[in-house]
Order: sequence, then structure tokens, then C-alpha cells
Amino acid sequence: MPDLSTGVVVIGGGSTGAGVLRDLAMRGIDAVLVEKGDLASGTTGRSHGLLHSGGRYCVNDLQAAIECVEEGRILRKIARTTIEDTGGYFVSVTDEDREWEPRFVEGCRQAGITCERISVEEARRREPALSRHVRTAFWLPEDGHLDPFFLVLANTESARRRGARVMTYTEVVGFSRAGDRVTGVRLRDVMSGAETAIACQAVINATGAWSGLVARLLGVEVRVVPVKGVMVVLSHRLAHAAINRCHKPGDGDIVVPALSVAILGTTSAKVPHPEVLPIEWDEVRRMIEEGALMLDGVTTARAMRAYAGVRPLYDLGAEAEGREMSRNFAVIDHEVRDGVKGLTSIVGGKVTTYRLMAERVVDLVARRLGVGNPCTTADVPISDHDDSLDQLRHRPAQLGVPKPHSGEHPLEPLLCECEMVRPRDAAPWFADPAVRTLEDVRRRTRAGMGPCQAAICSYRLAARLVTDRGLDGSQATRAMADFLETRWRGVRHVFWGSQLRQAQVGTGLQMELFNLDRQLAIDGDRPETREPRLPSRRPVPAEARG
Ligand SMILES: Cc1cc2nc3c(=O)[nH]c(=O)nc-3n(C[C@H](O)[C@H](O)[C@H](O)COP(=O)(O)OP(=O)(O)OC[C@H]3O[C@@H](n4cnc5c(N)ncnc54)[C@H](O)[C@@H]3O)c2cc1C
Repeated sequence: MPDLSTGVVVIGGGSTGAGVLRDLAMRGIDAVLVEKGDLASGTTGRSHGLLHSGGRYCVNDLQAAIECVEEGRILRKIARTTIEDTGGYFVSVTDEDREWEPRFVEGCRQAGITCERISVEEARRREPALSRHVRTAFWLPEDGHLDPFFLVLANTESARRRGARVMTYTEVVGFSRAGDRVTGVRLRDVMSGAETAIACQAVINATGAWSGLVARLLGVEVRVVPVKGVMVVLSHRLAHAAINRCHKPGDGDIVVPALSVAILGTTSAKVPHPEVLPIEWDEVRRMIEEGALMLDGVTTARAMRAYAGVRPLYDLGAEAEGREMSRNFAVIDHEVRDGVKGLTSIVGGKVTTYRLMAERVVDLVARRLGVGNPCTTADVPISDHDDSLDQLRHRPAQLGVPKPHSGEHPLEPLLCECEMVRPRDAAPWFADPAVRTLEDVRRRTRAGMGPCQAAICSYRLAARLVTDRGLDGSQATRAMADFLETRWRGVRHVFWGSQLRQAQVGTGLQMELFNLDRQLAIDGDRPETREPRLPSRRPVPAEARG
């Protein structure tokens, strides 16, 4: 007997699945989203955060460029709270780049992308960090920064307000069928191991780079190629706008300002599995070298962590490799292609085009379910708020708490100074049972993502587990250690120079002030085989010191 019954099960809680859930809910279709980790814990939360104007694709992938520019304009209307309107520059630094320019300008024209050539002097006046190698500059006002976590959450919250349900840490491990029709999914709670089932009329497979693995559970094929990209987070913004290299897309050729930091990316390499994402020192070094050709601060800024994501590129059967493969998406109707009724996959695309992807797949599924309501996601704002995502500029004005009837605005203490997270920003998430770890709180608030990498806010967040969730001291310490370990996984790839010194401050705080490693050892249950969760107390060898 199924534990639950619904119209549509959406598998995958990235931007695609979240967009699909909202679209279904807005058409009045009952739906449940299941995600094996937290929301945005797959590729979406590991993307570069660029709201693409389309400039990157306009020469080699015109269709993807057109979709980016059109969707970018829609998202600026409906998802303002998730976008920093930075604009972007495309800059040439070599002869080869200069040869690319006419094709770039023509591609922008064909795709309808706003693109203005400006003098290098003017570009440098606006962006003083542009390197002396820059020879030409184009201004593309439609590039921006899109916060992938806030985008996913805004979509799922909007869907939940319309009756949709979201189950995180719930993995689809199988399907139920009646003849050639899919009638439901079998689930496993990733934390407890408990198995449940949902009966449904249709399933949408929105699992990105995992979609081939999920389809295989039903014996059908989805040819998705997992292509890894590495990014380096630099400790401050470096530039006001996104800086792109004007050339055939390559490594280390985009720097995106993302609130308090800048993200340099990316690389491109096929990997055997979406969860095998090693970060090589050479990849980090190569990106820093390339990025420095565009921006002066890249080598001197503190590289504070590196992370990797995996592109879900859909294999159209062409000979294309990695960067040559299209950023387009595909809706796969398994009823027509494989004779499996009730299953549809949606693969490929970008975060920037998630809404369009959702519209296309829900058009098909709604038609099959006999629902005639049209898509309205391009017109209805996702959230009631209208502020754009511009924390740095607006937050100081929001830090005072009005005292009732007094007219006074005393300053509110912060949970995370780097990202200016206030207790009231985090409070609803501590009350939400779907939020199971401090990592989940980070994705919803950005606490711990700034320059100190949770050195300070980790213990304040752990304290909230005691006050808001009733955990005892040991449990909160364990949760804090787990949180610090996830931060540490990214920090260890850039362990030199000023980042090494910063990490030692963090180690001092957590190891010495909280006696964290000893405390965990006393508590006992740490398997020896696991990789170290936190920087060890061992002295750092002289050659590694910056
Ligand atoms: C390095 C890099 C940089 C990028 N930069 C940008 C950018 O700047 N701008 C942009 O627009 N796009 C960018 N992209 C592309 C973009 O990130 C992806 O196209 C997009 O995030 C894919 O979203 P998705 O929802 O399809 O997949 P995902 O976000 O991966 O979501 C799929 C989810 O399915 C879940 N799942 C898998 N199997 C199961 C199962 N059995 N049961 C339940 N859940 C399951 C996974 O845990 C995952 O969370 C970038 C991609 C990469 C790799």
C-alpha cells in the first residue's frame, strides 16, 4: 500500500525540479517533489551563479543564447529577490580574442543581446581592477548574479503555498508499474533508511546529471554526460560587474561578483559519475592564472575555497565533447520513445533557463493528465517581496530593529557578520523540520559562506540548535563539527598564503576555544576510517606556509 498519493511526483530538488513543482502547482496539479539530499544540493547549488545574458553562447550555441537572454529578462521581472543586477563585461586580452570579436558582436545581434563596445579607458574607470592586458571591452547589461539557493527555495516555497509538498533527504530507489504504465515511486529516507512509497499518475525525472541513473531504474536510457567544472571563491568582489573573456569558452574565463565574494570559474572535464568530483591543484592554479589576465586582484585576493559541480549535458548523439556540447535542454517523452507511460525526463539547460525547461515539460505532462490550464510562471512574481538581491548595499539600513511604539531602532546582533545574516533570517529555518543540518541553514541564509568560512557563525548557529531545537551540548557540538567539515572540504584545496593564516584562526577558535577535536573524541563515535573533518592540530610544514 502506498503511503501517499498524488498527481505528479517530481524527482530532483535543483532549479529544474523546483521550477517544475511551481509550474505544476500554479496549474492546479497536485504534486510532490522528492530530493535525495537537501534542496539545491546537486549541481544547482554548485553552479557559478551567473545569470547568463547569452553572450557566452552566442557564437557557438545560438539557440541556448536566445533562451538565456529571453529567460534572463523574465527572471528579472519574476525573481528579483534572487538576482543582483551587476551587468557584465566581455574583454579581449590576446590576438586570438580580437579575432573572436566580430563573431561575438554578430552573435549578440542575432540573439538579440544588448551589447555596447566601450573604450578600455571607460571600462577601467568603471572597473579599476581590469588588468593592463585588456585591449577591448564590451558592456552587456543583462549579465547578472543569480543566487541558486534563494532561487530554488523561492520556487519551492511558492509551490508549497499552493499546496505542493516537498520531501528532502528522500531518494527514489525504484518505481511501481502496472503493465506499461508507471504508477508510483519507491522511496528511502536517506537518514533513517525507512522505506515508503507514493502512488501517482505521472513522474517527472528532473535529476540533471543523475537522470540516466534514475531512468535506468525503469530500464530506459537517458544519455546525459556528466561534465565537471571547478570554481574558486575569492574573498572579495574584485569587480562590480561579471567579467567574461571575449573568446571561445575556456577555463578560468568568468569572474562573477556574488554578494560578499567573487567566484572564478570554470573548467570542463568529463567524469564517470556525477558524484566523483576530485579537485586537482593544477585546475585551481590554471584558473587563477587565466583569471589574472582579465582582473588584477585575482592573484592577490585570498582564494578561500574551491568547489566542483557537474553539468548535466544532454548527449544528442553528436561527436561533441565537453564545451562543444550544447547547453540546450531536452524533454524526453518516454511514452513515445520507450513505450513507458507516465514517465517524462527533462535534461540539460542552465539555471538561467530553468523556468522555460519547467514550462515545456509541464505542458506535455499537463496535456497527458487532461489539464488545460496554461503556464503562468513568466508573469507571476515568485515572491511577494520586490527588493533586488543587493545585500551589501541595502543591508545596513535593515540592521536596526524597531522598538514597538518608541521610534527607536537599536542595532540587531548578527548571526553571521560576513553575510550579514540576522537571527530573524535564520529563525524560520530552525523551526522547519525539513531543515536537518546546519548546511541546510547555510543554503537558506548564506550563513558561513563569507570570508571567514563559518569560523565565527558556526558556534552561534550551533547555539541556536540548543535554544530552538532542544539539542544538548554534545549534539550541538557534533552538528557544528559536521558543518565545519563541509566548509573545510572546500578550503583544503586552496591552503596557502593568507588562506592558510585564516584557516589557522579558525582552527584556533574551534580546536582551542571549543576543544572540538578532543570533545568529539571523548564523545566517541567517530570512525577512524573517515577523512578528517577539521584542520588537525598538527603543525603546518614550513614549505606549505605562505
Ligand atoms: C561548474 C558549473 C557552473 C555552472 N554555472 C552556471 C551559471 O553560472 N549559470 C547557469 O545558468 N547555469 C550554470 N550551470 C548549469 C546549471 O548549474 C545546471 O544546468 C543546473 O543547475 C541543473 O539543474 P538541475 O535541477 O537539472 O540539476 P541538479 O541541480 O543537479 O538537481 C538534480 C537533483 O536530483 C537529485 N537526485 C538525483 N538522484 C535522485 C534520486 N534517485 N532521488 C531523489 N533525488 C535525486 C540530486 O540530489 C540533485 O539535487 C553550471 C554548471 C556547472 C557544473
